[in-house]
Amino acid sequence: MPTTSTTFNSPPQRGSGEGVSPTSTTFNSPPLRGSGEGVCSGEGVFISRHFTLAELTRSFTAQQRGLDNRPSPEALRHLQALVNRVLDPLRQLFGAPIYVNSGYRSPELNAAVGGAANSQHTLGEAADIRGATTGETRRLLGLALAHAADLGFDQLIAEECDARGFPKWLHISYGDRHRNQLIFTKR
Ligand SMILES: [Zn+2]
Repeated sequence: MPTTSTTFNSPPQRGSGEGVSPTSTTFNSPPLRGSGEGVCSGEGVFISRHFTLAELTRSFTAQQRGLDNRPSPEALRHLQALVNRVLDPLRQLFGAPIYVNSGYRSPELNAAVGGAANSQHTLGEAADIRGATTGETRRLLGLALAHAADLGFDQLIAEECDARGFPKWLHISYGDRHRNQLIFTKR
């Protein structure tokens, strides 16, 4: 159940383009633990125990269109905070892999995928995440809600929920604001 610190007073953000590309399953490859591969490019660098910079910046659209999706130092700091404060603790609670459909988006990439102009993805403050199945994603949502006060996320959006309330993915953000705001969008 939602905690008392969760608010429900914001309208859904429809059509914000937080969409999952059909290739999101390509993000499932396991991280290159300790191999040293890609260190020079930053690709294989772990920014936490569970998350690499690569999986937080990877984008099929950016690859297809040749868009530069490398985060600025400031965006990188935001990504690190998102991971440290929200994603890693959530991963520990979850006890299973969390897949990142979309993390950082350069302004060019964000425009290309139809993201909202002020999307927190462009600041490195947001990630779209899911579990291995819709049931696992629902479980992830439940954990995020149960621990909302501790995680201190800004926004949590349960995206494209079906009739049972199972979201396709979760948009979760961390930044200067700590609204602890929960939003549901329906399919
Ligand atoms: Zn998102």
